[in-house]
Amino acid sequence: MFHALIARIKQGHRTMPYPKAPLRMPDRLRGYPDLKPEALSGESAACPFGALSTTDGGCLDLGKCLFCAECPAGPVSFTTDYRLAVTKREHLLVRPGVERHFAAPLPPDLRKLFGRSLKFREVSAGGCNACEADTNVLSTIGWDLGRFGIQFVASPRHADGLWVTGPVTENMRLALLQTYEAIPAPKIVVACGACAINGGPFQDAEAVHNGVDGFLPVDLYIPGCPPHPATILDGLLRILDKLR
Ligand code: SF4
Repeated sequence: MFHALIARIKQGHRTMPYPKAPLRMPDRLRGYPDLKPEALSGESAACPFGALSTTDGGCLDLGKCLFCAECPAGPVSFTTDYRLAVTKREHLLVRPGVERHFAAPLPPDLRKLFGRSLKFREVSAGGCNACEADTNVLSTIGWDLGRFGIQFVASPRHADGLWVTGPVTENMRLALLQTYEAIPAPKIVVACGACAINGGPFQDAEAVHNGVDGFLPVDLYIPGCPPHPATILDGLLRILDKLR
């Protein structure tokens, strides 16, 4: 017991100070894109996942982007800005010179209900487990999601929201919808990762439904393949108005 206490004292406080102190992200992180409008045209806008478009001065759809960096380095480069989550699907469309959006706080009545205790039931609707893994990281000691009152729970009856990963395969469609129905109202829906937003690399495949917002109203879109835990936490804190 004595040795355990000594070890604990030596370890100190392991949870990161964020959001009181800023996060330091690695240089290799691919975050918010920097688009060069003059180069974003024709073949330079080629993207294997249809995330780049040349119309209206060029556009990168963060909901479709897998941050794979297969696009030409000229028109698109990625900053280390991890703050990508938004509350409206159209806010994932990044256009050169157009103001960017962040996730907006939930309406006051929902913030009052969920501000100190927000429980999610997660459904992997055909995902590869990468988004689940990076979501799970938030419950480790370094991030300690529980300090914000946010937790993942086993039963939808105990939940305030549905956390969706995966492109919504036909096999998982009914289970997803039944889980949503089992959550008591009012409830929110989070689409975590490119698959849950738009089908990801499985977009338009026969067995998938290209994300969750064709079935359910989504309150928070978290792009990435998978999203970095910092991106996920940023979105959650913003809808709870704990970050501006
Ligand atoms: S990073 Fe990959 S998915 Fe995103 S625009 Fe470039 S090629 Fe497309």
